[in-house]
Order: sequence, then structure tokens, then C-alpha cells
Amino acid sequence: MRSNKVNQYDVVIVGGAMTGASLALALDRLSLGTLRIAVVEAVSPAQSGHPGYDARSIALSLGSVKLMSQLGLWSALVSEATAISRIHVSDRGHAGLARIAAHEYGTQALGYVIELAHAGAVFHEQMAQSDQIDLICPAHITAIERNSDRVTLQLSTGDSCQARLLVAADGGASTCCSLLGMTSRETDFGQVAVIANVSSALPHQGEAFERFTPSGPLALLPMSQGRSSLVWCLPPEQQQDVLGWSDEEFLANLQSAFGWRLGKLTKTGQRYVYPLSLRQAERRISHRVAVVGNAAQTLHPIAGQGFNLGLRDVMTLAEEVIAGAQQGQDIGGAAVLSRFRQRRDPDQQATIQMTTGLVTMFANEHWPMVVGRNAGLMAMHAMETLKSPLVKRAMGQVDR
Ligand SMILES: Cc1cc2nc3c(=O)[nH]c(=O)nc-3n(C[C@H](O)[C@H](O)[C@H](O)COP(=O)(O)OP(=O)(O)OC[C@H]3O[C@@H](n4cnc5c(N)ncnc54)[C@H](O)[C@@H]3O)c2cc1C
Repeated sequence: MRSNKVNQYDVVIVGGAMTGASLALALDRLSLGTLRIAVVEAVSPAQSGHPGYDARSIALSLGSVKLMSQLGLWSALVSEATAISRIHVSDRGHAGLARIAAHEYGTQALGYVIELAHAGAVFHEQMAQSDQIDLICPAHITAIERNSDRVTLQLSTGDSCQARLLVAADGGASTCCSLLGMTSRETDFGQVAVIANVSSALPHQGEAFERFTPSGPLALLPMSQGRSSLVWCLPPEQQQDVLGWSDEEFLANLQSAFGWRLGKLTKTGQRYVYPLSLRQAERRISHRVAVVGNAAQTLHPIAGQGFNLGLRDVMTLAEEVIAGAQQGQDIGGAAVLSRFRQRRDPDQQATIQMTTGLVTMFANEHWPMVVGRNAGLMAMHAMETLKSPLVKRAMGQVDR
């Protein structure tokens, strides 16, 4: 490998979006600044169309808020966050309904909605304040070489980095995994998600809506300035129609799919489209490598679990790396990485199962399934025993 300069680190993280940036900050804060960390990110945060800090808003579970607080990040995020006080689940054209209210669980909020563009600005500012984190951006990796005691990354800038541990946090189409020959399994859901910020005549009052329609699920999350953040899942063949509609046509079609629980839908922001598939890395560790966040698992957004799961990857990896360092172990060695994998596998499997189960159940128009799911929604409304496990996972009360 030829290069201009070789920079030495304890950990190199590839990808500086939600997962990579929160991992850098977690490692820095939980190690009390004793680890040298590099974050290699291809796109500058100020650039429009950043793939990780775009126009999306996401729901953070209470569990994630607790983890963010532990890292000292929540106080910077909360000013722009919107509390979810209630969740309303319905099935278009069928009777089933479920209502989940924060007060039933002795809490003021079931979770919070944050805007990714704001989170990006916060994370980048906090990374810049640390002497131990080098943000190498814009730069991408072009080659990875591993030997027994280190990993060397060649960068597009001509420089290279060496570390004891490489973390792939570079999203669903992970270059790190491709360069290392780490394959993934992919299931196409046959849906795309259209997102937009929508205003309504009635205030959302902190209520989130999840509506299952014959063409796919539709969610509206409460957000700032009284707006709701829409995720509308549709068959890919409808994508061009939806993007071609005028704002008035879009709002009229959305109104007919969603209904009138927020009164008349009055205004929409720009629309963006995301293809949806379940992608899962076959392995989440390899020699001197750990895979986290969307690079490890990219989920359907139906249950709002993607980053919540990724943040649990982040915290567990940070805890294991720091425990290893404190015990004088090699932080990129097999013992540390195996403990990370063992702790993450059950949560990953359970969250994928829950998310994919919801997509499959609600995508089905075969009548016994329809009867079953309406009975399920009504039962969920009536019986705490059924509702509790789902709510617990949605609130992020999950063992790591
Ligand atoms: C419509 C929608 C709604 C969602 N809603 C929710 C929700 O409500 N709750 C929730 O928890 N999750 C939600 N998610 C999921 C959540 O957005 C993602 O899990 C999270 O943002 C993923 O972050 P990431 O950092 O792992 O990956 P990414 O955001 O994909 O970031 C990867 C980063 O790596 C960089 N990169 C890639 N290749 C290279 C390279 N070779 N070199 C250097 N850098 C590189 C990219 O530039 C990018 O910045 C939703 C997703 C979608 C699509």
C-alpha cells in the first residue's frame, strides 16, 4: 500500500452519520478521552443531500433517550425534539384499533421525534470539540489491509490510517463489508417509503399515527412547528405517480389514505423516496472488524426501530472496547469482539423478527390474516398482556 501519511489510532470508524458519530462520542466519553479515534466520512455535513443527515425525522425510543443522556448528548438534542405522548394504530377499512398512551406507562412520553439534520449538526459540533476524535471528511476508504495486530485503511485523500479496531458504520451498502468480502442477505419488501413534512388543520398534540392500508403502512410522527413527519410506504410502481402529483393532489391522496384524525391536511414540504428492503450482514464481526448500525442491519421503517437498534449496537461495542482496554486486552482482538457479538445477536434477531412480522402481517389481504390482525389490534387495545411486550420494545426497554 502506498500512501503519503500514516495516522495512528485506537479505533477507526468508517461512516460519520447517526451510528458512526454516536459511536465516536460514546467511545470518547465512556473512555474519559483515553482512546484515539478517527471517523472517516465521505460527505461533509454542510453538503445538501447528506445521505445520513437528510430531511427525515426519526422516533427515538425512551431507551435511546436514556442512552443519549448517558453520553451527555440528549441535552443538546432535546431543544428540537417533539415528545410522543400517544400512539394511534389503525387498519384502513377494518375495525381494529389500538391506542397507546404514555400516562398508562407512568411516563410523560413514549419516545421523542428528532430531525436528522439537527442531530447531524449536534454530533459534528460535539466531535469537533473533542481532542481525541479526528473527523476525516470528505474522504472515503479505497482499500483495507489487515494483519495480526492492526488494520490499515487507504483513504481517497492519499493518506492512510492504522488502528487496532475498524468499525464499519457506513450504512446499508457498506463499502467496508464489500472490501472485506463480508456478504449480506437481502429481502426486498416490494415497497418504497415516501417521506414529507405535512401541516394539518388540527394540532397533533404529540400523537403519532400508524395506519395500515392495502398498499402499505403509513405513519405520521409529531414534529416541530405543529407539523407531522410522514412515512408512506407504497408499491414501487406508484413512486413516479406520487412524485409527479402537485402538492394539492398529493395532499388529497394522502387525506384519503390517512383519514381525518388531524383534520384537513393543509400543506406539504418536499417529497423524498427511499427503497425498502431488509438487509442483514451475514457476520457482524471479523478479524479486527465490527459492523454496526445500518451496515449490520437495515430494517423496514414500519416500527421506527432502525437507529434505536443501531444505538444499542453502539453502546454495547463501546462498553466492550472500554472494558477490554481497562483489563489490558487487545481492543480489536477476538475476545472483545466475540463478547460484542454474543451480546448483540438476541436483540438483533428479536427486533428483525418483530419488524418483519409486522410488515408481513399487514401486507396480507388474505381474509383469515385480516380477521386475525383486527382481532389482534382490538386485543392489543383491551389486553395489557399483549400490548406490553410490543410497547416495551417500541419504548426501547430492551436488554442488551
Ligand atoms: C423513511 C425512514 C424512516 C425511518 N424512521 C426511523 C425511526 O423512526 N426510528 C429509528 O430508530 N430509525 C428510523 N429509520 C432508520 C434510521 O434512519 C437509520 O437506522 C439510521 O439513520 C442509520 O444510520 P447509519 O449511520 O447506520 O447509516 P447511514 O445513515 O446510511 O450512514 C452511513 C454513512 O456512511 C458514509 N459512508 C458510506 N460509505 C462510505 C465510505 N466508503 N467511506 C466513508 N464514508 C462512507 C455515508 O456518507 C453516510 O454518512 C428510518 C429510516 C427510513 C429510511
